[in-house]
Order: sequence, then structure tokens, then C-alpha cells
Amino acid sequence: MRIVLLGAPGSGKGTQAKLLVDKYKIPQISTGDLLRAAVAARTELGRKAKAVMEAGQLVSDDIVLGIIQERLAKPDAKGGFILDGFPRNIPQAQALDAMLARLGQPLQLALLVDVDDAVLMKRLTGRRNCGSCGAIYNIYFSPPRTPGKCDHCGGILQHRSDDNEETVGNRLKVYHEQTSPLVSYYKAQGKLRTVRGVGSIAEIFRNICTVIESQIRPLAAVMGQIGASLAAKAKAAKAKKAAAKPVSAVKAKPKKAVKKKAKKKAVKKKTKKKAAKKAVKKVTRKAKARKPAKKTKAKKGKKAKKTK
Ligand code: AMP
Repeated sequence: MRIVLLGAPGSGKGTQAKLLVDKYKIPQISTGDLLRAAVAARTELGRKAKAVMEAGQLVSDDIVLGIIQERLAKPDAKGGFILDGFPRNIPQAQALDAMLARLGQPLQLALLVDVDDAVLMKRLTGRRNCGSCGAIYNIYFSPPRTPGKCDHCGGILQHRSDDNEETVGNRLKVYHEQTSPLVSYYKAQGKLRTVRGVGSIAEIFRNICTVIESQIRPLAAVMGQIGASLAAKAKAAKAKKAAAKPVSAVKAKPKKAVKKKAKKKAVKKKTKKKAAKKAVKKVTRKAKARKPAKKTKAKKGKKAKKTK
């Protein structure tokens, strides 16, 4: 299952992506999370991204595309993924399409979580995360029992540095200018579906799952059928080709075998001849070696006669 979650910052797509990970056992790939991790680790990429992120602007496409390409190549993304916060503009969407086309794994669904700006502003400026267990609160809609403390683990609640009013204003502006054109982009591809992002988290999740089941499952079934019919056709074509092979082609095999046998015989004969030649040479060498011995005997005999 290959899905893009679209939605303004604060639309709740990150929360929904986590629920989808649990249900469908595929990874959530969030460029925002990957960039924040790079900033926290003070990598070179993180240093480049930090100021841009704090200003609520988009990090350059080449940095984000590099990150996403590396992440999609990991083994856990082979069975599918949920993209959250990527793509953020048309060039990123085009680059993603090209990347997935190369892998033969096109996107199946772009799901828009739709929320009004006024609600988004309160959601974002009021958002707090637990630094220990990751639980999410909102000081307007779902405050913790003790301000600044996690209800579950007592951890300190944190306020993201880009969740202040000025930066949130910028992020929403950037969303409307650069990211919302993706709605038309995916609509034109017939891949866009929309879910209202208001109400309880569970209710929104149910609606998202209904869209996924009705959109992706039938598509997967059709793809499966197409695959099976193509495989059957290929098998039939192979069988037909084998049946249509000319008789001479069938007879060619024994001919080859005969040739092979003859060659083997010739090689055997040659080695036998060589061995015989070698043996003759050996005998002559021995005989030559013996001759001088006879000569010395004869010489000895002559010498003996002379001394007598
Ligand atoms: P997010 O957590 O998705 O709201 O992302 C936080 C910040 O990371 C954004 O405001 C951008 O500065 C940066 N970012 C995340 N994803 C992208 C992206 N696909 N393209 C460019 N910048 C991004």
C-alpha cells in the first residue's frame, strides 16, 4: 500500500499516519520527523535545515529529495509506506512519481485531511508533546491534568519551536501557496480522496480506513487478476512455441551427441598414440644409455690386451 497523506500543518495527518502504521504494518515516512532528527543530531544537513524550519519555510527540494530517496530504499519500505509531509510542492510530487515509476511501484492514493485555517491555528499554537513518551496534548482542546506535565508518565511537555503564532502563520501561507496545488495534481491522476479532519481521532481514522479499503483493495484485486492472466498467457505461449518446434530441431540433439562421442574417441586415440610414442622414445633413450657402457667394456678389453 503506497499512500500520500496531504493536509495543512496541524490537520492531524501525523496522528492518523501512526494509527495506519499499526493497522497496516507499513512505515510512516515523515520528512518533518527526519529533518527534526537531523537538526537534533546536529548533522550538516540538520544545520542547513534548522533556520529554514524555524522560519516556517520549506527546506530546499534537493535536501528533502535526498532524504526521501534514502528512506524509500530501506527494506521496510518495500511492502509499502505512508508519506506524511511529503511531497510539499509540485516539483517534489513530480520527483516522487519518477522515483516510484523507476521502482515499478506507483502511488495508489493521495488522501487529503481537510481542516479550516482557524482550527489549524489553535491546534498548532496549542500543541504540546511529551518529551518522554511522545503523548500529544493541546492546551485548548485536550489539556493535561497538570499544566506542562504528561498524564501518562509525568514527563515534561514540550512546545515545538515552529509552533508559535508567527511561524504557524507562515507555515499556513506556504501550505496554501505551494502545497495545496497538489490537490489538483492528484485529482488529475484520479488518485485524490478527501476526508474531513474534524471530530474525534477515532472517527476520522474510521473514515480514512473506509476510503483505503474501497480505493486500494479493489485496485489490488484487479492488479492481481491482471498479473495472473498475464502469467497464464505467457505459459500458454511458451507451450505453443515448444509444440511448434520443427522435427529437425528435435533430431539435432542426437547428431550433436554423436559428434561429441566421435570427438571424445579422437582425443582418446591421440592420447594413446602420444603414450606409445613416449614409450618408444623411452626405450631408445635406455638403449642409447646402455651402448656407451658396452663401448667402455670393449675399450677396457683392448687396453688389457695391450698391457699383456
Ligand atoms: P512538518 O512536521 O511536516 O510540519 O514539517 C516541519 C518543517 O520541516 C516544515 O515547516 C518545513 O520547514 C520542513 N519540511 C518538512 N517536510 C518538508 C518537505 N517535504 N519539503 C520541504 N520542507 C519540509
